[in-house]
Amino acid sequence: MTSTGTPSIDLRTLIAELPGIEIITDPSQVSKLSQDYYTYSPILQEILGDKRGDLVVRPTTEAAVLHIAKICVKHRVPLTVRGAGTGNYGQCVPLQGGLILDLSNMQKIKWIKPGIACVEPGVKLAALDKQARESGWEMRMAPSTYRKATIGGFIGGGSGGVGSVTYGQLRDRGNLLALRVVTMEDEPRVIELRGDDVYKVAHAWGTNGIITELEIPLGPAYAWAEAIVTFPDFMTAAHFGQALSDSDGMIKKLVCILADPIPGYFAALKTCIPPGSHCALILVAECCLEPFAELVKEFSGTVTYQKTAQEASKGATLVEYSWNHTTLHARSVDPTLTYLQTLFPADKSLKLVEHMYHHFGDEVMMHLEYLRFNGQAIPAALQIVRYTTPERLQAIMDYHEEQGAMIFDPHTCILEDGGRKTVDVTQLQFKQMVDPYGLLNPGKLRAWEERSQYLA
Ligand code: FAD
Repeated sequence: MTSTGTPSIDLRTLIAELPGIEIITDPSQVSKLSQDYYTYSPILQEILGDKRGDLVVRPTTEAAVLHIAKICVKHRVPLTVRGAGTGNYGQCVPLQGGLILDLSNMQKIKWIKPGIACVEPGVKLAALDKQARESGWEMRMAPSTYRKATIGGFIGGGSGGVGSVTYGQLRDRGNLLALRVVTMEDEPRVIELRGDDVYKVAHAWGTNGIITELEIPLGPAYAWAEAIVTFPDFMTAAHFGQALSDSDGMIKKLVCILADPIPGYFAALKTCIPPGSHCALILVAECCLEPFAELVKEFSGTVTYQKTAQEASKGATLVEYSWNHTTLHARSVDPTLTYLQTLFPADKSLKLVEHMYHHFGDEVMMHLEYLRFNGQAIPAALQIVRYTTPERLQAIMDYHEEQGAMIFDPHTCILEDGGRKTVDVTQLQFKQMVDPYGLLNPGKLRAWEERSQYLA
């Protein structure tokens, strides 16, 4: 293999052993398909900028995935699974070269029953949602990248998103029902995981199995109206967000709160958000618009934009200004900006949010996304940061943790260093069984590098 430090097997030998499977070797295309959206982090830009795979393969069946796995094991070639490549931390960037397994062509929706869908991993979230809605169901939650992102990538690397204010996060029991996983043993096989066993592979960044089929729970479909509500001060907007998220009688899908000057980065919404205002981007069921208007009145907000579900289905939706799309829009105006991922404690008085808002001022611009966490609505945050130095960025994250907020560091490409900060021994044991040569997305799992400490 090439410059990337992988075993020296001639690419032609590998290609010859993969007949009938789409293979991409064109260097510029391979480079493109080696990347994701880690570029939001100046730290990761330094680490990942030159990382490339050696070739990309695009199978369309599970049988082909099994064959590819066998050939990679035979030649000890690293394999990195890719969905749409919209991950944020270089999750699918190959650190040690090798083969990129692009599953975006495995797009079958196998069946949809009341409340459950069975799909292949390359199905786009928007496509699944559209088809489910034909029978009165919808995806419970989706990232703001739902038009591009695949379900395999969402389960492999995502955490939650639009819908999480009602259903919690992917990690919550019940939000993923079953997986079929191809192993990287000498004789690769398919393992079916159900119940809590799905968490052996979910959010493992493709380091311990290749997901080839998923059973995903659905929620009842609603007609989602969109609204922007503006407020003269940020904390009123934040308290409005908490109150809406806590309103059990109101059906909502998105409660996104943005401090000034963030809305100023949204060129297409400029006419709807007066300069200097703080705002809430909301998706609420059309049947709840009347009580929603009462809540807006209670907090003295102003509805500056409202669309019915039908109107909202044409063109860009407010979803594409929320979650990490907020960062995307801000960076398209000022590419030096970066971001944080934070979970604030359950505290309805929002004291820590208020403290951080005043403490950092314009350096850390507040962006809250309400979600359900352990049965309570709490603010998560994707604050936008005016980046200066790595040391300052670290100091900002340290200060949050010292004050009791939980940081999910988006500036690392090591799984445990980002979210969990602890080793998941169950995932590690599963990896030891299904990927004994450590070929899947190597370099991303700290536990694997340090496995002698954790495995008997
Ligand atoms: P990829 O980026 O291709 O892969 C993600 C990870 O999963 C990789 O480690 C990959 O190896 C692994 N993987 C992919 N397919 C498989 C498989 N079949 N088997 C095993 N492992 C696999 N994320 C959220 O959770 N919520 C958000 O709201 C959100 N908003 C975003 C907004 C923007 C603007 C951007 C750029 C990113 C956002 N993300 C968000 C991150 C990302 O878009 C989502 O997690 C998305 O679901 C990833 O899907 P993908 O198909 O692009 O996966």
